[in-house]
Amino acid sequence: MDSLETELDRARDLDVGDLADAIESIGFECTRCGACCKSGSEDPHTATVFPDEVRDLQAATDYDWRDVARPTPYGLTEGPDGPEGETFEWALETDACGDCTFYEETEGEGRCTVHDDRPLICATYPFSVALGGTSQPMGEAVDEAGMVRAHECEGLGRDIPREDAEELAAALKERAIRELEEAIGVRDAYTPVETEPGEVIVHDSEGPKTPDGRPR
Ligand code: SF4
Repeated sequence: MDSLETELDRARDLDVGDLADAIESIGFECTRCGACCKSGSEDPHTATVFPDEVRDLQAATDYDWRDVARPTPYGLTEGPDGPEGETFEWALETDACGDCTFYEETEGEGRCTVHDDRPLICATYPFSVALGGTSQPMGEAVDEAGMVRAHECEGLGRDIPREDAEELAAALKERAIRELEEAIGVRDAYTPVETEPGEVIVHDSEGPKTPDGRPR
C-alpha cells in the first residue's frame, strides 16, 4: 500500500466534478429507512467520528463526551470486567438497542436528531473513495464508478439531482482528506501506554485518551 502521505496527496487532488459524475452514475436517494443509523443483526451501530466532530456534537447537544462517543471496539479484548486495551478511533455512542444515540423513530419514521451537525461519515453514507487509509463503511462495496465505491443501501440506483451529487461529492472528498489526516495524526501522536487491567485507552490524533475524552 502507498504511504498515508501519498494517499493524502491523492485525496487532495480528487476532482469534485468527477466524484459527482460517479455518484450520479451510481444514483442515490435517501429513503429514510434508518438502516445506516441502526444496529446490524448482531453488532451495535459503529460509525467513526473525529475528535473535533465529537466536540461539535457536544456543543450542539450539551452532552458529555461519553454520551456522544465511545471507544471503537476494534483492538479491544474482553477482560474479566469487560473490554480492555488500546483502540484507535471513536464511534458514535449507541443506545440500549445498539442504534446510534442520535437516532429517533416515531411511528415507523426515523430521523437524525443532529442532522445539521451530523459527522462526515453520516453525511456521505453510503459512499466511500477507493483510497488506502480511508474507511469503507458497512462492509464490501456493492457498486463502484471511478474513484467512488457504494456500500449496501436501499437508496442506491435512484436518480440524484446534480446539485445534491456535487454536495455529496464535496463532503466525500473532505471526509477522505480528514480520514487520512487523522490516520497520520494517530500514527505520529502514538506513544505506547501500559494499560491497567480493565482499562481502555483511545489513541487519536491528539494523543492517548480515557473513554471520557480526557488526556491519559
Ligand atoms: S448521527 Fe444521525 S445520521 Fe449519523 S448515525 Fe446517528 S442518527 Fe444516523
